[in-house]
Amino acid sequence: MEEVDCPICEASRGEPLHLEGSFQMVRCPSCQFIFLNPRPTTDSLFRFYQKYLPEEEPSIESWERMMQPVFHRAANLLKQYRRNGRLLDVGTGFGFFLVEMKKRGWEAAGVEISQKAIDYARDVLGLTILSGPLEKADFPDNDFDAVTAFYLIEHLSHPMAFLRECHCILKPGGLLLLRYPHTTPIKNLLQFFGIKNRLYDLPAHLSDFSPMMIQQCLERIGFEKCQHLIGGCTLPSDLGKRTSSILFGNFAEALFYLSGKKFLFPGVSKTVLAFKGNIS
Ligand SMILES: [Zn+2]
Repeated sequence: MEEVDCPICEASRGEPLHLEGSFQMVRCPSCQFIFLNPRPTTDSLFRFYQKYLPEEEPSIESWERMMQPVFHRAANLLKQYRRNGRLLDVGTGFGFFLVEMKKRGWEAAGVEISQKAIDYARDVLGLTILSGPLEKADFPDNDFDAVTAFYLIEHLSHPMAFLRECHCILKPGGLLLLRYPHTTPIKNLLQFFGIKNRLYDLPAHLSDFSPMMIQQCLERIGFEKCQHLIGGCTLPSDLGKRTSSILFGNFAEALFYLSGKKFLFPGVSKTVLAFKGNIS
């Protein structure tokens, strides 16, 4: 474990916010970013992800079923802006989103650090996967029409470096689509009622972005026209989790559309879409 400064603004320390077991989420006193501190070292995280599966999902097949509705919604969202082109999915896992996009006519490749996931994506699904974190993949600038990352940014030690790299490798007018959990409002509510939980999924998650924080980071790097959406819900195999995901996901979605696409229900996962300047 190591003590870190704020991964967004580099202010030192952070004020204690929530405890989960022996792990502590803190809030940056300067930019309000919420992050795990102390956190596992980069090396220990790399070892951890060699065998990583979200703990509630027992198999690769159930992982695919869980993510399918979100992938489908994201693919339809991208289709509103681009019919095809070059797409990179970062933290692509077993590669199911790439399969969906290839079916739709995209030239799709993935980046992944987990060897178990890479082996499956390459050997079983026949996909193009680069091994390692995005920053080490060394793509040329202005290379992709779309970059996607599902449930990745909350796992990253250096989220700003990741977003900067996404900006570099996108063509002008290219799209970035991120999907991320937004857990702090539920944590605050459950703490109020004294209900213990492990919703932050520590120490796998290193931070908890709000839509406002995501937008600030994206705009600072040069992305524009940010659109925030609920973007559907996952279908975990555990019945209780699936019921709650469907219930809150659909409720949040209904409120989002009833409010004229303005109200983002706090606590449920969000999707954000942003463009690299010069959209035609
Ligand atoms: Zn900060």
